Amino acid sequence: EGSEGRPDAQWPPPSMDFSKPTIARAYDALLGGKDNYAADRALAEFATENIPGLKESARENRRVLVRGVRHLAAEVGVDQFLDLGSGLPTVQNTHEVAQAHNPAARVVYVDIDPLVTVHGQAILAENDRTRVFTGDVRDPAEVLSRPEARALLDFDRPIALMLVGMLHYLSPEVADEVVSAYRDALAPGSYLFVTSLVDTGLPAQQELARITRENLEEGWARTPEDIEYHFGDFELIEPGLTYTALWRPDNLVDANNLAPGEQLGMAGIALKKK
Ligand code: SAM
Repeated sequence: EGSEGRPDAQWPPPSMDFSKPTIARAYDALLGGKDNYAADRALAEFATENIPGLKESARENRRVLVRGVRHLAAEVGVDQFLDLGSGLPTVQNTHEVAQAHNPAARVVYVDIDPLVTVHGQAILAENDRTRVFTGDVRDPAEVLSRPEARALLDFDRPIALMLVGMLHYLSPEVADEVVSAYRDALAPGSYLFVTSLVDTGLPAQQELARITRENLEEGWARTPEDIEYHFGDFELIEPGLTYTALWRPDNLVDANNLAPGEQLGMAGIALKKK
């Protein structure tokens, strides 16, 4: 147990610097959340001014996360979730969506931002089927061997591994090795759920990647082919890799009339067959 969550511990802990923005807090600011600071809000505003529809795209990403988890929990029957780069708790978190359909579902959250663990622990204090820990997705061996993950998840059974709003923080140098290590760790019947900033030739997409890289170190817009590559030999389920708004929408969406914010990210879920 770390001391970070204790009210009597030093605040802020030495591992947190509130004078610089972080990915998790800036995204929370985009979503209109409360777990962010002046530097995060300034970056969120700057990016919003430069990228039309950015806030809407963040909300779209949350909406497709909910639809994807709901599909996996309610229709496919997956009852284990490993949510990598899970972000600060917001409305309708993975465990809430999954456990609404299956109270026995188990969810493990991992994020590099220690504030996620601080806020996460408060929410999860009374939920013994959910864990959160601070870890770097770029180190799969470490993440996959963590006692918090092993205690809750059975890797011999299907797991839904989520890289939702996360793949674009993996640089081209490391992404292949990292994502394939996670795919290899999963049992047949498992799923990989990815949403990512996409490059379909619209200037705003690479511009957002550049703003992100310059302010938050990592940020890469991938072509749909590049994103699909990371599913390896997993088989994409319907409707394949699509703009997030078009992935199993609750209401009819006109694919020929997407708003700018609906053309920043794509989503896909794929099954490990063998
Ligand atoms: N998955 C949530 C969602 O889709 O709403 C949050 C997405 S947010 C855009 C990306 C998250 O990934 C942030 O919380 C950030 O801290 C986390 N992240 C970025 N790089 C990471 C890394 N190398 N290891 C773990 N988490 C990382």
